[in-house]
Amino acid sequence: MKNSNVLAKSIRDIPDFPKKGIVFKDITTLLQNAKTYKRAIDSIYNQYKGKRIDNVVCVEARGFIFGAVLAYKLNAGLVLIRKKGKLPYKTHSITYALEYGKDTLEIHQDALQKNARVLIVDDVLATGGTIAAVSRLLKKLNAKISGIAFLIELTFLDGREKLKGYPVSAVIKY
Ligand code: AMP
Repeated sequence: MKNSNVLAKSIRDIPDFPKKGIVFKDITTLLQNAKTYKRAIDSIYNQYKGKRIDNVVCVEARGFIFGAVLAYKLNAGLVLIRKKGKLPYKTHSITYALEYGKDTLEIHQDALQKNARVLIVDDVLATGGTIAAVSRLLKKLNAKISGIAFLIELTFLDGREKLKGYPVSAVIKY
C-alpha cells in the first residue's frame, strides 16, 4: 500500500474538537505505532536528504515531534520556535491573527547563521497562518527557506496560498 494511504489510515478523526465544526486530525495513533511513526519520518526525510539543509525549524508543540528526528537524520541543527515568554535569551517575535484572537511566536535572535538553508517542519497545514508567520520571522534572521514540510495538508483550507513562493510538501492530503 502507498505510504500516504497507510499513514492516512493510522490517523484518527475527532469530530467537533476542540470546537464544533472542526474535524481534528489526531496523530497520536500514528505516533504510538513504531511502523507508522517511522514511515512518516522517512517520507519527509526522503524528500530532503541531500538538499544541504543547515537547520530544521519547528514550532511548539507538535512540530517538535517531527523536527527533532528530522534534524538528526538530515545532519542539521534544530531551531525551536516557541510561544511568547518561553525562550530565555533575546528574541524576535511576531504576532499573527488566529480564527479568534491572535498569537505570538518567538525565535532566538542568534538561532541561525545568515543565509542558513532551513527546512520548516510541522504536523498540519490548515489555514497556513502559523507557518506564514514563521516565514516572516525567519526573514528577520536572513534565512533561506529551502522547504516547508508538513505531514498533513487540509487542502480545502487553501493554506498553500499563504505560503506562495515557497516549496511546500505534504505527505498526506485531505
Ligand atoms: P494553521 O495556522 O491554521 O495552518 O494551523 C496551525 C496548527 O494548528 C497546525 O500545525 C496544527 O497543529 C493545528 N491544527 C489546525 N487544524 C487542525 C486540525 N484539523 N487537526 C489537527 N490539528 C490542526
